Parts: sequence; structure tokens; C-alpha cells
Amino acid sequence: MRQITHWIGGKPWTGTAERHGDVYDPATGQVGGRVDFASADEVEAAVAAAREAFPAWRDASLTKRAGVLFAFRELVARHRDELAASITSEHGKVRADAAGEVARGLEVVEFACGIPHLQKGGYSENVSTRVDSYSIRQPLGVVAGITPFNFPAMVPMWMFPLAIACGNTFVLKPSEKDPSASLLLAELWREAGLPDGVFNVVHGDKTAVDALLTHPDVRAVSFVGSTPIARYVYETGTAHGKRVQALGGAKNHMLVLPDADLDLAADAAVSAGFGSAGERCMAISAVVAVDPVGDELVAKIKERVAKLTVGPGDDDRSEMGPLITGPHRDKVTSYLDGGVAQGATLAVDGREHELPDGSGFWLGPTVLDHVTPEMDCYRDEIFGPVLSVVRTASYETGMALIAANPYGNGTAVFTNDGGAARRFCNEVEVGMVGVNVPIPVPMAYYSFGGWKASLFGDTHMHGTEGVHFYTRGKVVTSRWLDPSHGGVNLGFPTNG
Ligand code: NAD
Repeated sequence: MRQITHWIGGKPWTGTAERHGDVYDPATGQVGGRVDFASADEVEAAVAAAREAFPAWRDASLTKRAGVLFAFRELVARHRDELAASITSEHGKVRADAAGEVARGLEVVEFACGIPHLQKGGYSENVSTRVDSYSIRQPLGVVAGITPFNFPAMVPMWMFPLAIACGNTFVLKPSEKDPSASLLLAELWREAGLPDGVFNVVHGDKTAVDALLTHPDVRAVSFVGSTPIARYVYETGTAHGKRVQALGGAKNHMLVLPDADLDLAADAAVSAGFGSAGERCMAISAVVAVDPVGDELVAKIKERVAKLTVGPGDDDRSEMGPLITGPHRDKVTSYLDGGVAQGATLAVDGREHELPDGSGFWLGPTVLDHVTPEMDCYRDEIFGPVLSVVRTASYETGMALIAANPYGNGTAVFTNDGGAARRFCNEVEVGMVGVNVPIPVPMAYYSFGGWKASLFGDTHMHGTEGVHFYTRGKVVTSRWLDPSHGGVNLGFPTNG
């Protein structure tokens, strides 16, 4: 049984925790590790380590900071397989998918390597006679990240590479369900030469989160998780004077117009609906088929779903792994009968798919057809391998559905009509939009984030918005004495 503990001040914590959590291998249903849960005291120790490390790290030269990031980049790339294996063993996703999330996280590290350029300010000479002005962006201090189970490496890497590159020190509270990847990353930071205390990890649940949200030395909080907790984190963090960006849940719609290439659309719906067992915030969960394509599209989706191989993530033949926990699998499964009871058709029943034996948290890919907006399977974020198909009369009625949905994380339109696609991009109230691309996750040099109930706060993650979030601006106006200075002037400073 693996013992998993906090990482504070550049090393594993050596205390004795009062509370613990079980870490499962979802493919077997067995407990593989035990993770310590932090009390407010352990959170205090991590924040104190970060606070002590801050002055020296803030003053480290840009060259030094960039050098550590380049070294970290090389180490993460070299340990990609080890990280992926750790993710698969605790999360369950297939190995290639786990390697993919490490690669997408690595892109943010690569972006952060450009910090000397990203953190540049501006300079204006002679804003008034012989008076110059310049702007600088300075780090905030100790900042915290609280992350969900579904991307145990990538989502933390949306946050800490930029936060640290900007000169902040960081306390990460990863998901207690798959905590080990964050510790591997902590070891790689140390090997990369990051000073002790700049990156810390505390494990745990609400107790640890609350201690971070109310700690006076934590200046900013980045959160990714479900909408109710995102709202809570935003409200509690801002009430305690912190800058907060809190990304929430999603219900991502894929609008298929009548002129779309239906083979492409079916491939995309199946890939984006069932990749990572649907446990992706950018998963497509609602296919909106504009009449008359519904029947043909559903037939093509069914053909593809029948061929999917569901199995353990460490078996190269598997295309889809298990769900994260037994209770979550049961909750997802409840939407199958629930959807039928409310009038949907079970076009593909995931319980009948060929599944591995044993006590893993398995559910096969499921397609619910003729779903309508009043049904729970449409209204709720199911976060599992359940694709709902909604039939609609026109582009306008499809758009009205998307507009009425409380979430606004990702969406996609499938069409060969450039004008319709352009109109969709212009009108849709969603933060990340794909045109014939089902999972439009922005590259690291753009910013990731949704609208509406998918984001609390106003800054998205990584890209230049990330640099903005982790720094605050200062403008200096300076005049150096010269022989012409002098004279009292009580008027408001104006240019001259
Ligand atoms: P979650 O909200 O249950 O947990 C997220 C984090 O909050 C974890 O670290 C957890 O320990 C902590 N937490 C849980 N309950 C808490 C409470 N009562 N008080 C304080 N902290 C608490 O989310 P999850 O189940 O780990 O992840 C899945 C969710 O994350 C889905 O809703 C998914 O859409 C969302 N998600 C969103 C994005 C995005 O970019 N918008 C990305 C990934 C995941």
C-alpha cells in the first residue's frame, strides 16, 4: 500500500496525519494507496514555507527563473511515461490519454519558459517634460491551486508553471482521489533546481481547502472543479480578500447542421463523448442534431460505439477505461433508467457492452436518444460515458438550447457552410468554440476558460490572462533632478 503525504519546503512531510483517504485503482476496484489529509496546521506549514521562499524567488533574475523552467520542461518530458503510468493507476484513463494530458500540461511549461518576454512592462519617455513613466508587473506572493480528479497532471500545470515563472510561490491542493502525479511533479521541480518552498503540495478535502481560502497570507486562488464548489471557492476566497479564478462544470453541446459530413460528426461525437470515459470538462455530452440528420447520425454513432474496447488503462488495446469511483459509476448509471423513465430512448446501453470482469468501476459507452431539455440527463452534468442526442428543428432552435443552458464551457458546430460556422462563432455564448473540432482546448499561448456557470471570476487560465492573474501592475512616474527643476505647484499634475 503506497503512503502518500504532503510536500512542504522541498521534501515530504514527516508528521502523522489525523485523517486519511483511500486511493483506488479504478480498474480493479482495490485500494492501492492511503493519502494523508491536511489539517489547518499542515496547511499553515505549507503556506509558511511558501511565504519564506517568496522574497528570494521574487528577486531571482528572469534568467534564473527561466532556467529552472527549461530544466523542469526537460525533466517532465523525460518522465512522461512514469507520470502517465501513475495517472492511469489512480484515475483509470488509458495510457495514451494520460500521456496526452502530460503533453498538454507541458505546453504550459513551455509557454512559461518565455517569462522574460511575457512579464515585460512598457516605458514612455517624456510623458511630461523630462518625466518618464514605466509599467511593471510584479508577483502577488503565496498563491494556491485547488484541482479536480479528472486531470491530475494537466490542470495543476495550467496553474503553477506560470505562477512560479511570474515570481510567486505556490501551494497545490490536488484531488484526493488521484494525488500521486502532483508529488512526482514536486520531485521534478526539486531536481530542476527550484528553491525549497517555492512549490508545495497539501492533500486533503474541504478542511484543507477552507484553510487555504481563509489564510491571510494566500493572495490568490486558482480553482478547477464542479460548479457548486467553484462558486463556493469564489465567494469564500473573494470574501477573504483574495483574487480568485474558479472554473466550474460543463455541459458541452455539439450542433450538427444538415450539411455536415456525418461520418466526421459521428467520429467526433464518439471520440469527444467517450474519451476518458466522458470524465472531461470539455467532453461532448449533448449532440444537437438539426433535422433531418438525427436518424442517420445516431446510426453512425451506434456503429462506432459497438466497436469501442473498454478495459484497463494499462492495456494498450483499451480505448476507454473505468470511472473514477464506485459511487460515481452508480450515479452515472442511474441516468440510464432515469432517462428512459423521462421519455428518452436507450439507443446504446453501456451495461450491455463487453466489460472486464472483476470489481473495477466499469460502465460501457451509452447513447440516450430523443433527449429533451426537461430531462435530468440533459440538465445535469453527468460526467461519465453517456452521450445524449437532442433532435431539433433548425439552427435557431439549436442555438436557443445552447443559450438557455446554464453552462458555457465548450461547444462545437459541425457544418461545411462557412457562413453558418462564422455566425455560430459570433453568436454562441460559450468560452471555447470548435468548428468541426469537438474538443477545442486552447493552446497554452491562448487562455482556457468558459463563460456563465463554467467560470467564476473574470480571468481564464494560462496564456496572457494567466500572466495577468498571477501579477499585479504598477506604474512608476519618475523625474531625475536637472538644473531646470524647482518651484512649488499645487495644481493637479498635467502634461507639459
Ligand atoms: P470537485 O468540485 O468535487 O473537486 C474539485 C476540488 O475541490 C478537489 O480538490 C476537491 O478536494 C475539492 N472539494 C470537493 N468538495 C469540496 C468542498 N465541499 N469544499 C471545498 N473543497 C472541495 O470536482 P471533481 O469531481 O474532482 O472534478 C470534476 C468536476 O470538475 C466536473 O464538474 C468537471 O466539469 C470539472 N472540471 C472543470 C474544468 C474546467 O476547466 N472548467 C476542468 C476539469 C474539470
